[in-house]
Amino acid sequence: MSYLYILGAGTPTPTSERFGSSYVIELDNNNSKIMFDCGPAATDKLVKAGLWPTDIDYLFFTHHHFDHDIDYPCFLLCRWDQSIGEENILKVFGPPPTEKLTNDLIGENGAFAHDWRARINAKPSQYVYVNRGGTLPRMPPTIGDDEMLNSWIIPKDIKSGDLIKEADWVVETAHAEHVQPYLDSIAYKITINNFSIVFTGDTQPCQSIVTLAKDADIMVCMCWDDQESMNKMNESTGQCSAEGAAKMAEEANVKKLVLSHMGKRISTHGILENALGNAAKIYSGEMIIAEELMKISF
Ligand SMILES: [Zn+2]
Repeated sequence: MSYLYILGAGTPTPTSERFGSSYVIELDNNNSKIMFDCGPAATDKLVKAGLWPTDIDYLFFTHHHFDHDIDYPCFLLCRWDQSIGEENILKVFGPPPTEKLTNDLIGENGAFAHDWRARINAKPSQYVYVNRGGTLPRMPPTIGDDEMLNSWIIPKDIKSGDLIKEADWVVETAHAEHVQPYLDSIAYKITINNFSIVFTGDTQPCQSIVTLAKDADIMVCMCWDDQESMNKMNESTGQCSAEGAAKMAEEANVKKLVLSHMGKRISTHGILENALGNAAKIYSGEMIIAEELMKISF
């Protein structure tokens, strides 16, 4: 059985139920797990969901708003610290500044270089590493490119239209309409044995995502609020409502719509049920409200 884990189902506005975006795909018969976005407390929620940082070998960023990437330094340092030097290379994809951000965090002169330098050199840290199964000398989290096989991590800036292919899956990308030109945003579709899951990231309803999501099995779509409130408050540009998500899912013939990135207003009863009622009139497939630590089998 394969699983889609919902780690973060919220927005930049924290609520007691949701904060930021993060998802993980666990494939049957494959130890390599794939993360999409790394928002607030993603590493903490990952462990609470029964997963482990060193098992994540791929990370895709939809865009670099903090509610989608703020746990990146925590995830990187935790994954490196828990490593015993035998894990797969971590491959990270996203729009710019994915490469710069990685270098700025854990590179030779990165904001957290003091941490890994201390752990490599200090005797107490070396004992912990050896007791965990590691062999000295401990290697730094080397940032490389495709040619460097001894890299610990390979970050790559990508753009919509790019294709990422591995042995068991393929990831297609499409343009998402969010806060350009300040930040680029990418929607992803991962296909595993003819089963496809779309992550819209943050976007307003747009044709490029409808095309990407055509006949997808699952679409995880942002859902900021109900459409009427968004129209009234000038919040419908660059963002998607419950009704907007339903419209894209219906047009794309998506089998299951997962409403995630739930805003604070729509997370309250009354507003939520009203928006879901509207969405159900537009979309004829199955609709799910994303809850953090929920897992969906496929
Ligand atoms: Zn955003």
